[in-house]
Amino acid sequence: MAEAGSFAEKVKQQADIVRVIGEYVRLRKTGQNFTGLCPFHQEKTPSFSVHPVKQMFYCFGCHEGGDVFKFVMQVERCEFPEAVRTVAEKCGIPIPRATERSPEERRQNQQRAALVEIHREAAAFYGRQLHQSAEGKVAVAYLEDRGLDRESMSRFGLGHAPGSGDALLRHLKPKYPAKILDASGLFSHDQGGRIYDRFRRRIMFPIANESGKVIAFGGRSMGDDMPKYLNSPETPIYSKSNVLYHLDRAKEAIRQNDFVILVEGYMDAIAVARAGFANVVASCGTSLAEPQIKLLGRFTRRIIVNYDADAAGQAAAERSLALLLEKEFDVRVLTLPGGADPDQYLKQYGADAYRKLLASAPSYLDYLIARARQMDRSTAAGKLAAINFLMPYVQRIPNALMRSEWASRISAELRVDEPVLRESMRRAAAERRGNVQPKPELLSPAIAPAERRLIQMLAEPNNIRGRLAREIGANRLHCGLLAEKVFEILIAAAGSNASLDPASVAEGLADSERQMLFEAIFETSAGANWEEAESCLAALRQRTVARELVAELVELQKKIESKLPLDEILKLQARRQELQRKLVGR
Ligand SMILES: [Zn+2]
Repeated sequence: MAEAGSFAEKVKQQADIVRVIGEYVRLRKTGQNFTGLCPFHQEKTPSFSVHPVKQMFYCFGCHEGGDVFKFVMQVERCEFPEAVRTVAEKCGIPIPRATERSPEERRQNQQRAALVEIHREAAAFYGRQLHQSAEGKVAVAYLEDRGLDRESMSRFGLGHAPGSGDALLRHLKPKYPAKILDASGLFSHDQGGRIYDRFRRRIMFPIANESGKVIAFGGRSMGDDMPKYLNSPETPIYSKSNVLYHLDRAKEAIRQNDFVILVEGYMDAIAVARAGFANVVASCGTSLAEPQIKLLGRFTRRIIVNYDADAAGQAAAERSLALLLEKEFDVRVLTLPGGADPDQYLKQYGADAYRKLLASAPSYLDYLIARARQMDRSTAAGKLAAINFLMPYVQRIPNALMRSEWASRISAELRVDEPVLRESMRRAAAERRGNVQPKPELLSPAIAPAERRLIQMLAEPNNIRGRLAREIGANRLHCGLLAEKVFEILIAAAGSNASLDPASVAEGLADSERQMLFEAIFETSAGANWEEAESCLAALRQRTVARELVAELVELQKKIESKLPLDEILKLQARRQELQRKLVGR
């Protein structure tokens, strides 16, 4: 993909994959590689490796692998040109214009750029309205009443949407074509097709993407205007379930503290951040969606859910909990005393009190059991209701050992007989299995150690690579091997004398072949020497002889089969297959 002499190649040469990936994954040096928890599948023990010398990554769990661009494409869900630009930006490499591929892509990129630009302007416009207009004074008073000073209003980019209905439209119309205004989500149409401001008489919270660019707004009404919160619709740059409010400012703190505080609303997030807890994000009124959890998982696996104590808040918290459990997060739940939301609580009791509560927040298990305890359990039906409340959470826990721990805890806490509970858990677990979609298994490449070692020697720069490639190629020693295609590509690369780039080599390979190549490369290996290579070649030669033998046997068998009774033929076939397996492994 990174063609010679191209901008992409230049970026690839200058970029440090460890640093780029390190922005998404906590990496730890282990031997020659760096390892961490894979961002592409859920796991508790790291199987994700980054190779600093070869500038590649590979996950031994889900077999995702490739170069720095492949990583960014996967993690940001973007196309190659965008990945190149992202890496270039991260590494401070100046980007030449027009690196897009197709006209369609160029059009989309232009549209996205224009939408980001229009949001930047809208945010500035709303900000000026808040601080400079007469209408804005009311909004400022409202915010001050809620404990925000002017400095904080600026810091969090708060604004005000005027009530006139076309103030923003008049401001932006001369600068942007109708198509962009339309796609921005900042405007609505009435039945006659007339366009007007979507947000009116509202306090505006800019919603930024992970890199801090405003891509949407949340507007809170100050009076009785309904709805209380109005958000931007989905647009080409904004998808509600992919964004968390305040994550752009929180991500460093989340990584440093290795936990995140999840609150419901904008004002809560701002209050918590102002009190000195920068590692806070808001899901904005609803429960978490799966992409948001994935996004968080890149920064930490530990979360404290601090939703409002009202019924809606608890319902949202419990829905989020179920999904977080499924994704194996370490979850704690903080319910503030007196039913306060974080904003109110901090105002009344201050940061130190909040910090103490954070530190003592119960695990989700204790939280849920406490909730179940509040139910009437004096009757059998009441007990059943309590168990039925807890069971959906149990069902979601992937780990059997943890499920078992739950059983003991719940039976002790709710005074339910353990056998009864275990039976109910067993059924729940069976149902859970029934719901799980079988994952398409990757063909597990059972390649012989000798082949693996040869792939390593061919894939790394050394002084025997050329000779090895010639020897294998001339005698067709790789023919019929599972890794035949891998050898073919490596032999060709060795012959061309150019330095080998495994990540781009891998692009011509099927999934299982790519897996063989990456796993061979990521294995720690001693330097190559011809003596060892020769012994690996001997193994290959032996297999070649074995294969020829089998082929001749098959021919011979065909010839005599017609003259034998059926049961003799079947016996012979079974014996032949057995020998064939022993000889060539298949
Ligand atoms: Zn993985």
